[in-house]
Amino acid sequence: MIKLNDNFLRLQKNYLFVDIAQRVAKYKEEHPDAPVIRLGIGDVTRPLAPAVIEALHKAVDEQAQAETFRGYGPEQGYDFLREAIVEHVFAPRGVQIAADEIFINDGAKSDTGNFGDILGRDNTVLITDPVYPVYIDSNVMAGRAGTFEQEAGKWSRITYAPCTAENNFTPALPAEPVDMIYLCYPNNPTGTVLRKAELQKWVDYALQTGALILYDAAYAAYIRHDDVPRSIYEIPGAKQCAVEFHSYSKTAGFTGLRCGFTVVPKEVTARAESGDRVQLNPLWNRRQCTKFNGTPYIVQRAAAAIYSPEGKRQVQETIDYYMENARIMREALTTAGLRVFGGEDAPYIWFRVPEGQTSWGYWEELLYKYNIVSTPGVGFGPSGEGYIRLTAFGRREDCVEAMRRLSEK
Ligand code: PLP
Repeated sequence: MIKLNDNFLRLQKNYLFVDIAQRVAKYKEEHPDAPVIRLGIGDVTRPLAPAVIEALHKAVDEQAQAETFRGYGPEQGYDFLREAIVEHVFAPRGVQIAADEIFINDGAKSDTGNFGDILGRDNTVLITDPVYPVYIDSNVMAGRAGTFEQEAGKWSRITYAPCTAENNFTPALPAEPVDMIYLCYPNNPTGTVLRKAELQKWVDYALQTGALILYDAAYAAYIRHDDVPRSIYEIPGAKQCAVEFHSYSKTAGFTGLRCGFTVVPKEVTARAESGDRVQLNPLWNRRQCTKFNGTPYIVQRAAAAIYSPEGKRQVQETIDYYMENARIMREALTTAGLRVFGGEDAPYIWFRVPEGQTSWGYWEELLYKYNIVSTPGVGFGPSGEGYIRLTAFGRREDCVEAMRRLSEK
């Protein structure tokens, strides 16, 4: 008889955004004419850059000619893109990464979720709290999370590092030993960052204990301050203990096109049952070659186009547009008397709900009174209780209108 992977039954019901969508749908049904503004889900609204569109057209035309047609590509990605990443993402920051340490993918969700495939099931996991839910759920599926403790809202085998206003959103090193450490900076959902000195503490910890850092840099393009690292590899020692995930989704509006990349330095190892240290790079390569047949050629050409001079300029214009949204929201919410975090090096605003309210309570007030869809902080983990997340990826006029409504309360 076929048996189930019962870990899937342990997953908590209702993915956060499905829950929100259902509640908004119900509200819309009851109030069909309400001018609802959506600042909840982190999807982009600006079109792709002209340089990207041009590269797409050109790549499509190549597919029409026998001489330039491309079928299966290299599972790891085409050299033109891997080399462009080395040259334009890492070299300018003084980071030496080789092209064969870069694996092109169809977005950071896949690889942040899949990377655990090559890591032992018995590893213990640390996440910062609140957190992007994929890190937890993928470890639940793999059987690493233990059991869910309803009251605390936590998994028994996961170590939670709370990030709240009280500790300035800086996670503390764990008291108990951990093997896999998920860090995401700039952070989703809090929009906060780690400065170099803080990140160095985590790298030193991983080097001392033999842990692996899984560093999600999906929002690196939004960093403005110079002392905030764009990549964990700017930190000495990180190439021995960290893998890093990047995404073109928020960098260049590829949420629909799908492309990103994962960096697995050759120095990073994990211990095998034999006691030997084994390199993760060839193992990840093996895993990808077995389960992944590569990102489409036309999409990789589109990604490479963001590194041309005009591509860089156009992509930066869009990032600046979203960051201006963030500035407008930060200012308006602060003026409204709320305690606001994030939004300076990240496209998310995270704010404390008024005294005595809960995340979901204020979420409802925002919807019912102001017709604004947000995301309740508690949906990202127990330490998110008492906070709301707003995305800066909306349209300018929507941001301005939402803030006008809040200022007229
Ligand atoms: N990592 C973080 C922290 C995210 O917030 C997201 C998307 O919202 C992703 C990864 C997934 O990005 P992608 O679209 O590249 O799969």
